[in-house]
Amino acid sequence: MLAFVDPSTIAGLSTRTITGTRDQHVHISYPVLPNAPGLTDKLRAEVTAELRAFDLAAPRPAPATPDEPHTAKPPELNVDWQLTAYSPQVIGVRLRTGRFTGGVWHDSLCTIWYDRATGRAVDSPGLLKEGALAAVAARVKRELARDGPDVRPGRVRPDTGTFDSMDFNRRGDLVVEFDDEQVAARYLGRVAVAVPNREAATLLSGVGALARAAAQSIPPGKPPPSAAFDRRYPQARSSRAGTVDCAVAKCVALTFDDGPGRYTSRLLSILTEHGARATFFMVGSNVVAQPALLRRIRDEGSLIADHSWSHRNLAPLSSARVGDQLSRTQDAVAEAVGQTPTLMRAPYGSLSPTVVQVARQLGLSIVMWNVDTRDGPDETADDVAARAIGGARRGAIIGMHDVYSATIDAIPRILTTLTQEGYVFVTVPELFPGDHMEPGHIYVSGETTPANATSPPPSSP
Ligand code: ZN
Repeated sequence: MLAFVDPSTIAGLSTRTITGTRDQHVHISYPVLPNAPGLTDKLRAEVTAELRAFDLAAPRPAPATPDEPHTAKPPELNVDWQLTAYSPQVIGVRLRTGRFTGGVWHDSLCTIWYDRATGRAVDSPGLLKEGALAAVAARVKRELARDGPDVRPGRVRPDTGTFDSMDFNRRGDLVVEFDDEQVAARYLGRVAVAVPNREAATLLSGVGALARAAAQSIPPGKPPPSAAFDRRYPQARSSRAGTVDCAVAKCVALTFDDGPGRYTSRLLSILTEHGARATFFMVGSNVVAQPALLRRIRDEGSLIADHSWSHRNLAPLSSARVGDQLSRTQDAVAEAVGQTPTLMRAPYGSLSPTVVQVARQLGLSIVMWNVDTRDGPDETADDVAARAIGGARRGAIIGMHDVYSATIDAIPRILTTLTQEGYVFVTVPELFPGDHMEPGHIYVSGETTPANATSPPPSSP
Protein backbone atom coordinates (compact mmCIF):
# COMPACT_ATOMS: atom_id res chain seq x y z
CA MET A 1 0.00 0.00 0.00
CA LEU A 2 1.25 3.44 -0.90
CA ALA A 3 0.89 6.47 1.32
CA PHE A 4 -0.29 9.71 -0.25
CA VAL A 5 0.17 13.31 0.82
CA ASP A 6 -3.01 15.14 1.84
CA PRO A 7 -3.20 17.97 -0.77
CA SER A 8 -5.05 20.25 1.65
CA THR A 9 -1.84 20.52 3.67
CA ILE A 10 0.01 22.24 0.81
CA ALA A 11 -0.39 26.00 0.63
CA GLY A 12 -0.56 27.39 -2.88
CA LEU A 13 -1.59 24.16 -4.55
CA SER A 14 -4.15 24.45 -7.31
CA THR A 15 -5.42 22.23 -10.08
CA ARG A 16 -5.84 22.45 -13.82
CA THR A 17 -8.68 20.90 -15.76
CA ILE A 18 -8.65 19.96 -19.42
CA THR A 19 -11.87 18.94 -21.09
CA GLY A 20 -12.44 17.63 -24.57
CA THR A 21 -14.60 19.02 -27.31
CA ARG A 22 -18.28 19.26 -26.62
CA ASP A 23 -19.35 15.73 -27.47
CA GLN A 24 -16.34 14.04 -25.94
CA HIS A 25 -16.33 12.55 -22.48
CA VAL A 26 -12.91 13.83 -21.52
CA HIS A 27 -11.90 15.07 -18.12
CA ILE A 28 -8.30 15.60 -17.13
CA SER A 29 -7.19 17.05 -13.83
CA TYR A 30 -3.61 17.61 -12.71
CA PRO A 31 -2.05 19.54 -9.82
CA VAL A 32 -0.03 22.72 -10.03
CA LEU A 33 2.42 22.79 -7.13
CA PRO A 34 3.86 26.10 -5.92
CA ASN A 35 7.28 27.02 -7.33
CA ALA A 36 7.59 23.95 -9.52
CA PRO A 37 7.10 25.17 -13.10
CA GLY A 38 9.19 22.34 -14.53
CA LEU A 39 6.80 19.85 -12.94
CA THR A 40 3.74 21.63 -14.27
CA ASP A 41 5.20 21.62 -17.79
CA LYS A 42 5.98 17.92 -17.56
CA LEU A 43 2.51 17.01 -16.24
CA ARG A 44 0.84 19.10 -18.92
CA ALA A 45 2.94 17.40 -21.61
CA GLU A 46 2.06 14.00 -20.19
CA VAL A 47 -1.71 14.56 -20.10
CA THR A 48 -1.69 16.28 -23.47
CA ALA A 49 -0.05 13.18 -24.94
CA GLU A 50 -2.79 11.05 -23.34
CA LEU A 51 -5.45 13.27 -24.87
CA ARG A 52 -3.84 13.06 -28.30
CA ALA A 53 -3.65 9.26 -28.11
CA PHE A 54 -7.29 9.13 -27.04
CA ASP A 55 -8.33 11.43 -29.89
CA LEU A 56 -6.69 9.06 -32.33
CA ALA A 57 -8.11 5.88 -30.79
CA ALA A 58 -11.64 6.89 -29.84
CA PRO A 59 -14.48 6.84 -32.33
CA ARG A 60 -16.30 10.18 -32.28
CA PRO A 61 -19.69 9.79 -30.63
CA ALA A 62 -22.63 11.17 -32.56
CA PRO A 63 -23.78 14.49 -31.11
CA ALA A 64 -26.53 14.03 -28.54
CA THR A 65 -30.09 14.74 -29.69
CA PRO A 66 -33.25 15.16 -27.65
CA ASP A 67 -34.41 11.66 -28.67
CA GLU A 68 -31.07 10.03 -28.05
CA PRO A 69 -29.47 12.09 -25.28
CA HIS A 70 -26.49 9.85 -24.78
CA THR A 71 -25.22 6.52 -25.93
CA ALA A 72 -25.00 4.15 -23.00
CA LYS A 73 -21.23 3.95 -22.97
CA PRO A 74 -19.47 6.57 -25.05
CA PRO A 75 -15.67 6.64 -25.30
CA GLU A 76 -14.16 8.28 -22.26
CA LEU A 77 -10.82 9.58 -21.02
CA ASN A 78 -10.34 10.37 -17.35
CA VAL A 79 -7.12 11.49 -15.67
CA ASP A 80 -6.88 11.88 -11.92
CA TRP A 81 -3.88 12.49 -9.64
CA GLN A 82 -2.36 11.83 -6.23
CA LEU A 83 0.72 13.14 -4.47
CA THR A 84 3.20 10.39 -3.64
CA ALA A 85 5.69 12.72 -1.97
CA TYR A 86 6.12 16.35 -1.04
CA SER A 87 9.26 17.49 0.74
CA PRO A 88 11.61 20.48 0.45
CA GLN A 89 13.72 18.34 -1.90
CA VAL A 90 11.31 16.35 -4.00
CA ILE A 91 7.70 16.10 -5.25
CA GLY A 92 5.99 13.00 -6.64
CA VAL A 93 2.76 13.05 -8.67
CA ARG A 94 0.96 9.85 -9.64
CA LEU A 95 -1.35 10.21 -12.61
CA ARG A 96 -4.04 7.59 -13.09
CA THR A 97 -5.45 7.46 -16.58
CA GLY A 98 -8.67 5.61 -17.34
CA ARG A 99 -9.59 5.06 -20.95
CA PHE A 100 -12.56 3.55 -22.68
CA THR A 101 -12.45 3.35 -26.45
CA GLY A 102 -14.64 0.25 -26.81
CA GLY A 103 -14.22 -3.15 -25.21
CA VAL A 104 -13.20 -2.74 -21.57
CA TRP A 105 -12.18 0.14 -19.35
CA HIS A 106 -8.40 0.40 -19.13
CA ASP A 107 -6.47 1.98 -16.24
CA SER A 108 -2.84 2.98 -16.41
CA LEU A 109 -0.48 4.71 -14.00
CA CYS A 110 2.43 7.06 -14.44
CA THR A 111 4.42 8.63 -11.61
CA ILE A 112 6.40 11.79 -12.30
CA TRP A 113 9.04 12.99 -9.87
CA TYR A 114 10.47 16.45 -9.47
CA ASP A 115 13.86 17.41 -8.15
CA ARG A 116 13.35 20.81 -6.55
CA ALA A 117 17.09 21.59 -6.36
CA THR A 118 17.59 21.36 -10.13
CA GLY A 119 14.02 22.31 -11.11
CA ARG A 120 13.83 19.21 -13.26
CA ALA A 121 11.07 16.63 -13.64
CA VAL A 122 12.21 13.03 -13.87
CA ASP A 123 10.40 9.93 -15.06
CA SER A 124 10.13 7.06 -12.59
CA PRO A 125 13.28 5.30 -13.90
CA GLY A 126 15.16 8.44 -12.81
CA LEU A 127 14.71 7.17 -9.24
CA LEU A 128 17.32 4.56 -10.07
CA LYS A 129 21.00 5.03 -10.59
CA GLU A 130 22.66 4.44 -13.94
CA GLY A 131 22.25 0.81 -15.03
CA ALA A 132 20.06 -0.22 -12.09
CA LEU A 133 16.86 -0.56 -14.13
CA ALA A 134 18.02 -3.93 -15.48
CA ALA A 135 18.52 -5.19 -11.93
CA VAL A 136 15.08 -3.99 -10.88
CA ALA A 137 13.52 -5.58 -13.98
CA ALA A 138 15.21 -8.90 -13.21
CA ARG A 139 14.03 -8.74 -9.60
CA VAL A 140 10.44 -7.93 -10.67
CA LYS A 141 10.47 -10.78 -13.19
CA ARG A 142 11.53 -13.28 -10.52
CA GLU A 143 8.78 -12.03 -8.25
CA LEU A 144 6.09 -12.21 -10.94
CA ALA A 145 7.20 -15.71 -11.99
CA ARG A 146 5.97 -16.95 -8.62
CA ASP A 147 2.50 -15.50 -9.16
CA GLY A 148 0.92 -18.16 -11.33
CA PRO A 149 0.15 -18.86 -14.96
CA ASP A 150 -1.84 -15.71 -15.72
CA VAL A 151 1.11 -13.46 -14.97
CA ARG A 152 3.58 -12.96 -17.82
CA PRO A 153 7.01 -11.99 -16.51
CA GLY A 154 8.34 -12.21 -20.06
CA ARG A 155 6.60 -8.93 -20.80
CA VAL A 156 8.75 -7.05 -18.28
CA ARG A 157 11.37 -5.09 -20.19
CA PRO A 158 13.91 -2.76 -18.60
CA ASP A 159 12.54 0.32 -20.35
CA THR A 160 10.90 3.62 -19.42
CA GLY A 161 7.51 2.55 -20.79
CA THR A 162 7.30 -0.53 -18.57
CA PHE A 163 8.68 1.22 -15.49
CA ASP A 164 6.79 4.49 -15.78
CA SER A 165 5.19 4.20 -12.33
CA MET A 166 7.50 3.67 -9.40
CA ASP A 167 6.87 4.94 -5.87
CA PHE A 168 7.79 4.08 -2.29
CA ASN A 169 5.67 2.75 0.54
CA ARG A 170 6.04 3.78 4.16
CA ARG A 171 8.59 1.07 4.81
CA GLY A 172 10.78 2.49 2.05
CA ASP A 173 10.25 -0.42 -0.34
CA LEU A 174 10.40 0.53 -4.01
CA VAL A 175 6.95 -0.19 -5.46
CA VAL A 176 6.76 -0.93 -9.17
CA GLU A 177 3.21 -0.61 -10.51
CA PHE A 178 1.91 -1.94 -13.79
CA ASP A 179 -0.99 -0.89 -16.02
CA ASP A 180 -4.03 -3.10 -16.65
CA GLU A 181 -2.99 -6.12 -18.70
CA GLN A 182 0.59 -4.91 -18.97
CA VAL A 183 2.06 -8.00 -17.33
CA ALA A 184 -0.95 -10.01 -16.15
CA ALA A 185 -4.45 -11.10 -17.08
CA ARG A 186 -7.09 -8.47 -16.54
CA TYR A 187 -8.96 -10.24 -13.74
CA LEU A 188 -5.91 -9.96 -11.49
CA GLY A 189 -6.48 -6.21 -11.28
CA ARG A 190 -3.69 -3.89 -10.25
CA VAL A 191 -0.32 -5.62 -10.26
CA ALA A 192 2.54 -4.19 -8.23
CA VAL A 193 5.83 -5.56 -6.99
CA ALA A 194 7.67 -4.20 -3.96
CA VAL A 195 11.47 -4.33 -4.00
CA PRO A 196 12.37 -4.49 -0.29
CA ASN A 197 13.83 -1.47 1.40
CA ARG A 198 17.38 -2.73 1.85
CA GLU A 199 17.71 -4.07 -1.66
CA ALA A 200 16.18 -0.92 -3.15
CA ALA A 201 18.59 1.32 -1.23
CA THR A 202 21.55 0.09 -3.29
CA LEU A 203 19.77 0.85 -6.57
CA LEU A 204 18.59 4.42 -6.02
CA SER A 205 19.87 7.60 -7.63
CA GLY A 206 20.28 10.79 -5.60
CA VAL A 207 16.73 11.85 -6.44
CA GLY A 208 15.53 8.33 -5.68
CA ALA A 209 16.99 8.46 -2.18
CA LEU A 210 15.35 11.85 -1.54
CA ALA A 211 12.05 10.55 -2.92
CA ARG A 212 12.17 7.55 -0.65
CA ALA A 213 12.87 9.71 2.40
CA ALA A 214 9.97 11.99 1.45
CA ALA A 215 7.56 9.07 0.99
CA GLN A 216 8.56 7.64 4.35
CA SER A 217 7.90 10.91 6.11
CA ILE A 218 4.31 11.35 4.87
CA PRO A 219 2.22 11.96 7.97
CA PRO A 220 -0.52 9.39 8.49
CA GLY A 221 -3.71 10.42 6.70
CA LYS A 222 -7.05 11.00 8.29
CA PRO A 223 -8.96 7.81 8.93
CA PRO A 224 -11.44 7.05 6.15
CA PRO A 225 -14.81 8.62 6.89
CA SER A 226 -17.28 6.25 8.50
CA ALA A 227 -20.96 6.01 7.68
CA ALA A 228 -21.63 8.20 10.69
CA PHE A 229 -19.27 10.86 9.39
CA ASP A 230 -21.76 12.80 7.30
CA ARG A 231 -24.25 13.05 10.10
CA ARG A 232 -21.84 15.07 12.18
CA TYR A 233 -22.28 17.92 9.73
CA PRO A 234 -25.39 19.89 8.91
CA GLN A 235 -26.69 19.92 5.35
CA ALA A 236 -25.17 22.57 3.12
CA ARG A 237 -27.28 25.69 2.75
CA SER A 238 -26.45 29.17 1.53
CA SER A 239 -25.57 31.45 4.43
CA ARG A 240 -27.95 33.94 2.81
CA ALA A 241 -30.83 31.54 2.18
CA GLY A 242 -34.10 33.09 3.26
CA THR A 243 -33.08 36.63 2.27
CA VAL A 244 -34.88 36.41 -1.11
CA ASP A 245 -38.43 35.20 -1.64
CA CYS A 246 -38.45 33.63 -5.09
CA ALA A 247 -42.25 33.51 -5.06
CA VAL A 248 -41.99 37.29 -5.36
CA ALA A 249 -38.56 37.97 -6.88
CA LYS A 250 -37.53 36.93 -10.38
CA CYS A 251 -34.92 34.35 -9.39
CA VAL A 252 -32.36 32.50 -11.50
CA ALA A 253 -29.65 30.08 -10.41
CA LEU A 254 -26.20 30.28 -11.93
CA THR A 255 -24.37 26.98 -11.67
CA PHE A 256 -20.68 26.29 -12.22
CA ASP A 257 -19.27 22.82 -12.77
CA ASP A 258 -15.84 21.17 -12.64
CA GLY A 259 -14.02 23.53 -10.27
CA PRO A 260 -12.70 24.82 -8.08
CA GLY A 261 -9.94 25.87 -10.43
CA ARG A 262 -7.61 28.73 -11.08
CA TYR A 263 -10.41 31.18 -12.02
CA THR A 264 -12.80 30.39 -9.19
CA SER A 265 -11.56 33.04 -6.83
CA ARG A 266 -11.87 35.73 -9.55
CA LEU A 267 -15.39 34.52 -10.25
CA LEU A 268 -16.27 34.70 -6.60
CA SER A 269 -15.10 38.30 -6.36
CA ILE A 270 -17.27 39.24 -9.34
CA LEU A 271 -20.32 37.50 -7.89
CA THR A 272 -19.89 39.18 -4.52
CA GLU A 273 -19.35 42.58 -6.13
CA HIS A 274 -22.74 42.18 -7.83
CA GLY A 275 -24.50 40.79 -4.77
CA ALA A 276 -25.00 37.53 -6.62
CA ARG A 277 -24.48 33.98 -5.45
CA ALA A 278 -24.21 30.71 -7.29
CA THR A 279 -24.10 26.96 -6.91
CA PHE A 280 -20.75 25.24 -7.49
CA PHE A 281 -20.78 21.59 -8.56
CA MET A 282 -17.29 20.59 -7.59
CA VAL A 283 -14.99 17.75 -8.48
CA GLY A 284 -13.69 16.14 -5.28
CA SER A 285 -10.10 15.88 -6.38
CA ASN A 286 -10.13 19.67 -6.89
CA VAL A 287 -11.88 20.24 -3.58
CA VAL A 288 -9.10 18.73 -1.54
CA ALA A 289 -6.56 21.04 -3.18
CA GLN A 290 -8.19 24.30 -2.08
CA PRO A 291 -10.07 24.07 1.23
CA ALA A 292 -9.63 27.79 2.00
CA LEU A 293 -11.34 28.74 -1.25
CA LEU A 294 -14.29 26.51 -0.32
CA ARG A 295 -14.68 28.29 2.97
CA ARG A 296 -14.74 31.60 1.13
CA ILE A 297 -17.47 30.32 -1.18
CA ARG A 298 -19.51 29.27 1.85
CA ASP A 299 -18.93 32.57 3.67
CA GLU A 300 -19.97 34.66 0.66
CA GLY A 301 -23.33 32.91 0.43
CA SER A 302 -22.77 30.56 -2.47
CA LEU A 303 -23.44 26.84 -2.24
CA ILE A 304 -21.11 23.89 -2.76
CA ALA A 305 -22.48 20.78 -4.44
CA ASP A 306 -21.22 17.41 -5.62
CA HIS A 307 -19.95 16.70 -9.15
CA SER A 308 -18.31 13.33 -8.30
CA TRP A 309 -14.75 12.64 -7.23
CA SER A 310 -12.95 12.38 -10.57
CA HIS A 311 -15.62 13.24 -13.13
CA ARG A 312 -16.09 9.71 -14.43
CA ASN A 313 -19.19 9.04 -16.51
CA LEU A 314 -21.23 7.47 -13.70
CA ALA A 315 -23.90 5.84 -15.87
CA PRO A 316 -22.02 2.61 -16.67
CA LEU A 317 -20.65 2.19 -13.13
CA SER A 318 -21.83 -0.18 -10.39
CA SER A 319 -23.65 1.26 -7.39
CA ALA A 320 -20.53 0.76 -5.24
CA ARG A 321 -18.42 2.82 -7.64
CA VAL A 322 -21.08 5.50 -8.01
CA GLY A 323 -21.39 5.64 -4.22
CA ASP A 324 -17.64 6.04 -3.88
CA GLN A 325 -17.51 8.83 -6.50
CA LEU A 326 -20.29 10.79 -4.82
CA SER A 327 -19.68 10.16 -1.13
CA ARG A 328 -15.96 10.88 -1.29
CA THR A 329 -16.73 14.35 -2.59
CA GLN A 330 -19.46 14.86 0.03
CA ASP A 331 -16.92 13.92 2.69
CA ALA A 332 -14.21 16.16 1.25
CA VAL A 333 -16.56 19.14 1.16
CA ALA A 334 -17.85 18.40 4.66
CA GLU A 335 -14.31 18.23 5.91
CA ALA A 336 -13.45 21.60 4.33
CA VAL A 337 -16.55 23.65 5.16
CA GLY A 338 -18.38 21.72 7.87
CA GLN A 339 -21.47 21.16 5.72
CA THR A 340 -22.52 18.14 3.68
CA PRO A 341 -23.65 18.79 0.09
CA THR A 342 -27.24 17.84 -0.69
CA LEU A 343 -27.12 18.48 -4.44
CA MET A 344 -25.32 16.58 -7.15
CA ARG A 345 -24.89 16.96 -10.87
CA ALA A 346 -23.74 13.95 -12.85
CA PRO A 347 -20.66 14.42 -15.03
CA TYR A 348 -21.79 14.89 -18.65
CA GLY A 349 -25.35 14.98 -17.31
CA SER A 350 -25.24 11.22 -17.73
CA LEU A 351 -27.65 9.33 -15.48
CA SER A 352 -28.70 5.73 -14.95
CA PRO A 353 -31.25 4.20 -12.57
CA THR A 354 -28.29 3.21 -10.39
CA VAL A 355 -27.01 6.78 -10.21
CA VAL A 356 -30.46 8.03 -9.23
CA GLN A 357 -30.83 5.36 -6.55
CA VAL A 358 -27.40 6.00 -5.05
CA ALA A 359 -28.01 9.75 -5.06
CA ARG A 360 -31.21 9.19 -3.10
CA GLN A 361 -29.40 6.99 -0.58
CA LEU A 362 -26.77 9.68 -0.08
CA GLY A 363 -29.37 12.41 0.41
CA LEU A 364 -28.52 14.09 -2.88
CA SER A 365 -31.00 15.81 -5.19
CA ILE A 366 -30.02 15.62 -8.85
CA VAL A 367 -29.70 19.00 -10.52
CA MET A 368 -29.65 19.34 -14.31
CA TRP A 369 -30.04 22.68 -16.12
CA ASN A 370 -32.44 24.24 -18.57
CA VAL A 371 -30.22 26.98 -19.93
CA ASP A 372 -27.11 25.65 -21.61
CA THR A 373 -24.49 28.31 -22.25
CA ARG A 374 -22.43 25.72 -24.15
CA ASP A 375 -19.29 27.21 -22.66
CA GLY A 376 -16.04 25.41 -23.29
CA PRO A 377 -12.35 25.81 -24.03
CA ASP A 378 -12.98 27.33 -27.47
CA GLU A 379 -16.01 29.51 -26.75
CA THR A 380 -15.93 33.29 -26.53
CA ALA A 381 -17.20 35.36 -23.63
CA ASP A 382 -19.59 37.12 -26.03
CA ASP A 383 -21.27 33.86 -27.03
CA VAL A 384 -21.46 32.54 -23.48
CA ALA A 385 -22.97 35.80 -22.23
CA ALA A 386 -25.48 35.94 -25.11
CA ARG A 387 -26.70 32.39 -24.42
CA ALA A 388 -27.02 32.95 -20.69
CA ILE A 389 -28.86 36.24 -21.13
CA GLY A 390 -31.00 34.94 -23.99
CA GLY A 391 -32.01 31.81 -22.08
CA ALA A 392 -32.72 33.42 -18.72
CA ARG A 393 -36.24 33.25 -17.40
CA ARG A 394 -37.79 32.99 -14.01
CA GLY A 395 -36.64 29.82 -12.21
CA ALA A 396 -33.95 29.01 -14.77
CA ILE A 397 -30.93 26.91 -13.87
CA ILE A 398 -28.06 28.17 -16.01
CA GLY A 399 -25.20 25.74 -16.67
CA MET A 400 -21.62 26.97 -16.88
CA HIS A 401 -18.09 25.92 -15.90
CA ASP A 402 -15.65 27.85 -13.72
CA VAL A 403 -12.64 26.24 -15.38
CA TYR A 404 -12.84 28.33 -18.57
CA SER A 405 -11.44 31.85 -18.63
CA ALA A 406 -13.99 33.03 -21.23
CA THR A 407 -16.84 31.95 -18.97
CA ILE A 408 -15.54 34.12 -16.15
CA ASP A 409 -15.11 37.02 -18.60
CA ALA A 410 -18.79 36.66 -19.51
CA ILE A 411 -20.04 36.87 -15.94
CA PRO A 412 -19.95 40.67 -15.33
CA ARG A 413 -22.07 41.23 -18.46
CA ILE A 414 -24.50 38.46 -17.51
CA LEU A 415 -24.91 39.86 -14.01
CA THR A 416 -25.25 43.48 -15.12
CA THR A 417 -27.75 42.79 -17.90
CA LEU A 418 -29.91 40.36 -15.99
CA THR A 419 -29.91 42.58 -12.90
CA GLN A 420 -31.21 45.41 -15.08
CA GLU A 421 -33.94 43.03 -16.26
CA GLY A 422 -34.94 42.48 -12.64
CA TYR A 423 -33.36 39.10 -11.98
CA VAL A 424 -31.96 38.03 -8.62
CA PHE A 425 -29.20 35.39 -8.44
CA VAL A 426 -29.78 32.70 -5.85
CA THR A 427 -28.55 29.19 -5.10
CA VAL A 428 -30.52 26.27 -6.55
CA PRO A 429 -32.55 25.26 -3.45
CA GLU A 430 -33.80 28.82 -3.04
CA LEU A 431 -35.74 28.44 -6.30
CA PHE A 432 -38.06 26.04 -4.49
CA PRO A 433 -40.62 26.81 -1.78
CA GLY A 434 -39.01 26.44 1.63
CA ASP A 435 -35.73 25.56 -0.12
CA HIS A 436 -37.10 22.04 -0.22
CA MET A 437 -35.62 19.56 -2.66
CA GLU A 438 -36.14 15.82 -2.57
CA PRO A 439 -33.15 13.43 -2.59
CA GLY A 440 -33.08 11.26 -5.72
CA HIS A 441 -35.37 13.62 -7.66
CA ILE A 442 -34.19 15.15 -10.91
CA TYR A 443 -34.53 18.92 -11.15
CA VAL A 444 -34.12 20.62 -14.51
CA SER A 445 -35.27 24.05 -13.41
CA GLY A 446 -37.22 25.87 -10.75
CA GLU A 447 -40.13 26.19 -13.18
CA THR A 448 -41.04 22.53 -13.39
CA THR A 449 -42.09 20.14 -10.69
CA PRO A 450 -39.73 17.23 -10.13
CA ALA A 451 -42.37 14.78 -11.35
CA ASN A 452 -42.41 16.39 -14.80
CA ALA A 453 -38.69 16.56 -15.08
CA THR A 454 -37.48 13.12 -15.99
CA SER A 455 -35.34 13.40 -19.10
CA PRO A 456 -32.02 15.21 -19.07
CA PRO A 457 -31.47 17.99 -21.57
CA PRO A 458 -29.37 17.13 -24.62
CA SER A 459 -26.05 18.59 -23.63
CA SER A 460 -23.03 17.79 -21.61
CA PRO A 461 -21.55 19.95 -18.86
ZN1 ZN B 1 -18.56 18.44 -15.46
